[in-house]
Amino acid sequence: MPELPEVETVRRTLERYLQDVRIEGVKVHYDKILANETKKSLQEKLKGQTIRKMGRRGKWLIFELDDYDFISHLRMEGKYFFKLPDEERSKHEHVVFLLSDGRELRYHDTRKFGRMYLFPKDTCLQQEPLSKLGKEPWDDTLTSKYLMEQFQKRNIPIKTVLLDQSVITGIGNIYADEILFKAHIHPLTIASSLTKQKCEKIRNATREILEEAISMGGTTIRSYESEKGVHGKFQQNLKIHNQKVCATCGSNVERIFVGGRSTYFCQNCQKK
Ligand SMILES: [Zn+2]
Repeated sequence: MPELPEVETVRRTLERYLQDVRIEGVKVHYDKILANETKKSLQEKLKGQTIRKMGRRGKWLIFELDDYDFISHLRMEGKYFFKLPDEERSKHEHVVFLLSDGRELRYHDTRKFGRMYLFPKDTCLQQEPLSKLGKEPWDDTLTSKYLMEQFQKRNIPIKTVLLDQSVITGIGNIYADEILFKAHIHPLTIASSLTKQKCEKIRNATREILEEAISMGGTTIRSYESEKGVHGKFQQNLKIHNQKVCATCGSNVERIFVGGRSTYFCQNCQKK
């Protein structure tokens, strides 16, 4: 599943190719991807709209149009491809945008879990699902005080809380492990027991881990342009998740399940 750094990489790439490009038409081959519009109403509303900017909130992409916010979540397998109209449509390409520059932007999703919503311009952040999201990792109001207040309400493992999108948005299973490793915190530590100092460590590690991942996405994205697919999955420089040996101390990496999610940690570096 793409995590926040991958979605941010997709956002940057789409913005580079879509800014000031007009949507001439939309073909929808699988209606259920549209969460709050019918196929017909989406086609009518998007026709003639220009893509002004690409935004992101959590793992949602925001296409900022003249009169609408169009938002798209890739879920497990969603990808965007640029293709030419004469290229045959794969059965996994469910939504096709015809663009004013002659290309097509095609939404490809083998699992069909992706979702799209359309809202009036500048309103998407105030409406569900985006209004339910927690703070962005780089939000100034994401402070150790905020985290401590949130953690104190939760007598459950910190790993599970990091995956709760209503606290910090955009952290998935892989980066949750990396953040806790960097902050030297055991994944089963009960969130409400964390000190302010530990909360500060979590906040800083969150930003550092995600920034590093985004910068790596930026350097490897060229290979994805060549295959015309924009999904932002890139080589991850992982220190603990899915690793055998701890990169810091050389101990064997432990694997457990926390809230049903596969979790990796180092018993020596992340003491309980
Ligand atoms: Zn270690």
